[in-house]
Amino acid sequence: MTDANLPMRPRCPICKKPAASPNEDCFPFCSDRCRLVDLGRWMDGTYMTSRPIDPTDEQDPDRK
Ligand SMILES: [Zn+2]
Repeated sequence: MTDANLPMRPRCPICKKPAASPNEDCFPFCSDRCRLVDLGRWMDGTYMTSRPIDPTDEQDPDRK
């Protein structure tokens, strides 16, 4: 009925299912697949600092 006597079980940040045990390679995800999804997100966006062209770029003082 209650989760109070269960150990803390983090949830997979990708699919929100209960994560694997901390001794598993894919922890804190539920599976290797979700771990790779998260890795892919990093490679795709967050890790790279590129951004779309910003309108304020036209006010760049170096541009005369
Ligand atoms: Zn997952």
